[in-house]
Amino acid sequence: MALTGIQIYKLLPQTNCKECDFPTCLAFAMKLAAKQVELAKCPYVSEESAAQLAEAAAPPVRPVVINSNGNEVKGGNEIVLFRHNKRFFSPPGLFIRVYDDQSGEEIKAKVKPVGDYVVDYVGMDLSMGGIAVQARGGDFCAAVEAVRDVTKLPLILIGSAEELKQGLEKLAKDETPLLCSATTQNWEAMAALAKEYNAPLAVEAGNIDEMAGLVKKLEGQDLKDFVLAPKQRSLIGSLTANTTIRRMAIKENYSLLGFPIINFPGDVGDPIREVTRAMQAIGKYSSFIVLDNFDPATAYALLVLRANLYTDPQEPIQVTPGIYELNNPGPEDPFLVTTNFSITYFSVANEVESMGLPAWLLVTDSEGMSVLTAWAAGKFDAEIIAKDAKQFKAADKVTKRRIVLPGHTAVLSGELEEELPDWEVKVGPKEAVDLPAYMKEVL
Ligand code: SF4
Repeated sequence: MALTGIQIYKLLPQTNCKECDFPTCLAFAMKLAAKQVELAKCPYVSEESAAQLAEAAAPPVRPVVINSNGNEVKGGNEIVLFRHNKRFFSPPGLFIRVYDDQSGEEIKAKVKPVGDYVVDYVGMDLSMGGIAVQARGGDFCAAVEAVRDVTKLPLILIGSAEELKQGLEKLAKDETPLLCSATTQNWEAMAALAKEYNAPLAVEAGNIDEMAGLVKKLEGQDLKDFVLAPKQRSLIGSLTANTTIRRMAIKENYSLLGFPIINFPGDVGDPIREVTRAMQAIGKYSSFIVLDNFDPATAYALLVLRANLYTDPQEPIQVTPGIYELNNPGPEDPFLVTTNFSITYFSVANEVESMGLPAWLLVTDSEGMSVLTAWAAGKFDAEIIAKDAKQFKAADKVTKRRIVLPGHTAVLSGELEEELPDWEVKVGPKEAVDLPAYMKEVL
């Protein structure tokens, strides 16, 4: 049973020392009861109390990890329903499915580009989560081997207990796949297999009561790591099931549903409908998403959506302030200026680099804000630009001192001329996409 705030308070030191950043132990206890803070923030909890508080401190959605050869996908560990309440912690993994009645060559041809796919998005490497291998009356063992010939990404194994056992025998001893799925018909055999291989187990059910009942039976087999697999496949059915499960876990502390979720957008068959379902699954609480089609274009869109939802909304993604070289600039080339918000930096750098134009890029410290936001907040003004230009020794890089302000901050040009009297201050375009034409025509 989860503890109430008052019960937790009685186990805390009650000294109100404030080291946890809360004004009182009671305030900290209330946050702990709401799963909005970690117990580790209080350094003075006794070992005995810590043991009793472990349940209260545990996230309402249990973390479940599958891994292989240093690659891992972690689901769960979430504490809020909405990103703006704090943040989401465990980005869902995208898995591409192959079937055991496909030939080895067919499987390898499908899996290889999935394993090789890495794309840079504002300084982050985005890649696929892994491969799902599903039994369909073929040779399950051979299918697993074909996958492992071309990639070491984590696996989801889908089939009967007998089929999965054959596949498990082919895997390295230190890898942990997800086994799919325990149902009301096969749960005892699947539980035995999950126990033998110490692997997390997906639990499939058509409604919440059936799901919770099945989890309870499986917990009775000394298993702890589950992934919930709602049977619903329609957009509304899947949305309702995922949302109900997550609300019950986080709002009601209902531990039988406090596990990550797996969804199967690939089951709809059509690649377009598959993508819309995957988008919904990313937005609404799925941790393991099984697709049938791999297309780099749609994979990129899904991974960027995921990245945007699973970054901390209170910490803008940033690049380090400094001087960046675009296309090996020389002493005659201009200085462009922008802020250290990653998307702003990469917009400017990508436009200039893709056109092969050499330039220096001065990135100021604007606490990760975009140009207009930073300017409005007083984090991007003439004084700051001049200070950073001097701090990073911009004048030492060039003989022809030209500095280009973003067009939206043209108002700063007069002040910047006063701050940097040896420089020619120019006003560039408002949008990064117009920079190459501006550089060719004006600079
Ligand atoms: S750090 Fe611990 S003892 Fe200090 S106020 Fe917070 S909960 Fe209380």
